[in-house]
Amino acid sequence: MEVGGRLGRLRGRLAEAGCDALLVTSLHNIRYLTGFTGSSAMLLVTGGSALLTTDGRYREQSGEQLAAAGVDVDVEIGRPPEQLESLDRATKGIARVGAEQESVSWGGVRRFQEALGQLAGSAGELVPTRGLVEGLRLVKDEGELARIEAAADVADVALAQVKERLREGLTEAQFALELDYEMRRRGADDVSFETIVASGPNGAMPHARPGDRRIEEGETIVIDFGALVDGYHSDMTRTLSVGPVTDPRLTDLLDAVLIAQRAGVRAVKAGVEAVDVDRACRLSLEADGFDELFVHGTGHGVGLEIHEAPALGQGSADILEEGSVVTVEPGAYLPGVGGVRIEDTLVVTANGARLLTKSTKDTTL
Ligand code: ZN
Ligand code: ZN
Repeated sequence: MEVGGRLGRLRGRLAEAGCDALLVTSLHNIRYLTGFTGSSAMLLVTGGSALLTTDGRYREQSGEQLAAAGVDVDVEIGRPPEQLESLDRATKGIARVGAEQESVSWGGVRRFQEALGQLAGSAGELVPTRGLVEGLRLVKDEGELARIEAAADVADVALAQVKERLREGLTEAQFALELDYEMRRRGADDVSFETIVASGPNGAMPHARPGDRRIEEGETIVIDFGALVDGYHSDMTRTLSVGPVTDPRLTDLLDAVLIAQRAGVRAVKAGVEAVDVDRACRLSLEADGFDELFVHGTGHGVGLEIHEAPALGQGSADILEEGSVVTVEPGAYLPGVGGVRIEDTLVVTANGARLLTKSTKDTTL
């Protein structure tokens, strides 16, 4: 990963965001800019310098990680009031300090305003910013792509390894645990998010939590999961069945969602509007009469966060960029009966997309 150049690129975006410096409070953004992975920190990026403040737990770790990332960032260690004093000193003479409106709390803004009181009193101000660092994160570098691909591989291999166990009459929660354990055993640092295993009628709830229900033959089982590797996520969904799916309504949904998912993947290409990928899935399901059953967006960006920009849904204004990583995950849900969803993670390329999820889309075990 080339962490070193990111601060410079951020500085290039400050002016158009209407600020002279940025106070970064999102820990994902701090990690992206500096390599620091601690659970508490603030980062002030000015035109010519950068200051990371954190507490005593991270004295050694912050030094080591910033050095390893090769970034030119000063570090101040202290309790929260001391950190604010450091930031106050570092913002002297700066007219407009941006604060990340999506990550800072109301209380946080008040504390900054108090601490930076002198600043505010001398014609300086705190200005809300949105998506400044996230905009940089939109296009992944080689190191980031390698990590997401490694996470996708771990998830693929883990599913292939454990899916036969669906025959054993396990509960949803038991199967989810098997899958999670297999991902960890194969190198995942953690799961990407709480694994979804939704069988039978539970599958009609797109974000059902795995419970005590026993998995039975002939029903659809929606399995949505991913692995975390060195801070980067993967995300995939497969709909499986022990033996052929018995309800003809669900076999129709399976065929329709598979076709819609392919249509969505085909629509992905650098330069296209994200909303067109969503439209491709929706039109495909509409042709089969199932668009009313598709109750969520088509996909999302994946990286340091499981859900990040761009958004692939109705109303999205995002344009797909080469090097972005996105999901395509149409689904259809019949309340009381069952659900179907198929999701791949893919890299946007100049000519289309490169699939990172490689598992078969065959349903029947
Ligand atoms: Zn998913
Ligand atoms: Zn997803």
